[in-house]
Amino acid sequence: MIEPAARHPAGAPDPRAGSYDVVIVGAGPAGLFAALELARGRGLKIAIIDGGDRVEQRKCALRAHAGRCAGCNPCNTLYGVGGAGAFSAGTVNLRPDVGGDLHELVGDWDEAMKLIEYVDRTLVEFGAPDNVREPDMELVSKLSALAARVNARIIPVRQRVMGTEGAAGVVDSMVRRLEGSGVVIMDRTWALEVNREQNGLFKVKTSRGVLHARALLLSPGRGGSAWLLDQLRKLGAAVTFGPVDIGVRVEVPYHVMRPLTDAVHDPKIVIYTSKYDDKVRTFCTNPRGFVIKEVYMDGTVGVNGETYLKRKSENTNFAFLVTLRLKDPMENAVEYGRSIARLATKLGGGKPLIQRLYDLERGQRSTWDRIRRSNISPTLKDVTPGDISLALPHRIVEDLLEGLKRLDELAPGVASPQTLIYAPEIKYYSVRPVVDKSMMTTVPGLFVAGDGAGLSRGFNVAAATGVLAARGILHYLDST
Ligand SMILES: Cc1cc2nc3c(=O)[nH]c(=O)nc-3n(C[C@H](O)[C@H](O)[C@H](O)COP(=O)(O)OP(=O)(O)OC[C@H]3O[C@@H](n4cnc5c(N)ncnc54)[C@H](O)[C@@H]3O)c2cc1C
Repeated sequence: MIEPAARHPAGAPDPRAGSYDVVIVGAGPAGLFAALELARGRGLKIAIIDGGDRVEQRKCALRAHAGRCAGCNPCNTLYGVGGAGAFSAGTVNLRPDVGGDLHELVGDWDEAMKLIEYVDRTLVEFGAPDNVREPDMELVSKLSALAARVNARIIPVRQRVMGTEGAAGVVDSMVRRLEGSGVVIMDRTWALEVNREQNGLFKVKTSRGVLHARALLLSPGRGGSAWLLDQLRKLGAAVTFGPVDIGVRVEVPYHVMRPLTDAVHDPKIVIYTSKYDDKVRTFCTNPRGFVIKEVYMDGTVGVNGETYLKRKSENTNFAFLVTLRLKDPMENAVEYGRSIARLATKLGGGKPLIQRLYDLERGQRSTWDRIRRSNISPTLKDVTPGDISLALPHRIVEDLLEGLKRLDELAPGVASPQTLIYAPEIKYYSVRPVVDKSMMTTVPGLFVAGDGAGLSRGFNVAAATGVLAARGILHYLDST
């Protein structure tokens, strides 16, 4: 992995580098919610650092998507103030077991639910639109009966839909509130290295100066999980590895997914395959949305999806992911995922791969000519038609093909030969530091939160772990 600093060389020294009570690395949902909680009236000196741009600069990512911005930073999707969530589909799952397993982290369902409601109220306080989609329980129960026949499960979930534009507005107002209460936000500032000094203070070496802190929260998101692992190992924190999700993004005509998206806006379907008994699931469904390209700091590419409140496509896309857990001797599933991403990136010449399902099933590569024969016009054009089975392990391809066939029973047409498949879509949240209920690692004063620490897989739980970490930090500072 290329360190952030190598791609983003040192900037001008920032005079605000100095001593703080709390330093937060990463201004995604986890970091921002932690900062808001910490800033509630204690007079603490708080700094948040983020390697990416501020929201105003990142907004060009929205225009780039429409093809009107040639020169903007492709890293904007994942990196920058607001985090990966700032330009996400903005669907906030109002359940603790979707987007992570918050109930397991706090050890109680009701407590976890209260925390999700608290996150949701905070979003509304900062301008999230009054747009909660209730699951249609009549449709859900009909689908559940169908799903049971193909050994699939549908999870009904209430969702607040902010849309990409709405999410950016919420982040904007959070940043204004934080700066208004004296929190220092250092954008374009990469944390390079973290150490603990003999006096007990944490020393954070950044691309724009050195910061010291009594307590440190690391919330660098999926894009920073490899960096996080290095730091945790150096600081002596105990780390375990969780599973990794590897798969593709599927794009179909909007009407094909309607049986599912009419029941639940972003339906969560879980399938166990008959051949390998592997878990395959839908994730981040974007009705009438767009497929987008992700660029990681190490230069690898991947795909994701977005929905806008106003701009609509004719298609629906969703992630289709296989969950794999590795053991003995290779436990580091992040590294496994990265090696697949590197291979896929090479095969695609630096772009994600696209393939018609027809071609994938027949073992032939797609070409633009073959893609054009599909009745679906791809919403992401910056891709290379190719053969996904050369990039993803055979077991994963088999799981995905079987899963699509089963999903087709619930949404006929999903496994049509014309369906478009983009790869790779990999979720790097398998680094899992050992934490207590306040998100403190085995190193006193060192806290973690969000996707990078494997504690969440979505906006809702990332934000909730940020709140938990902030409460833990307040307790820690009071007791030291
Ligand atoms: C396109 C897209 C669509 C999505 N749609 C949804 C959705 O609809 N609903 C949902 O629930 N979830 C969605 N997600 C997932 C959701 O956005 C994440 O779960 C959430 O953002 C994780 O929050 P986080 O704070 O843990 O990390 P992130 O949001 O990834 O934020 C981490 C921040 O840390 C910074 N950083 C990393 N390393 C360093 C370093 N060394 N120094 C300084 N800064 C660093 C990064 O720049 C980044 O801003 C989507 C994600 C993407 C990419």
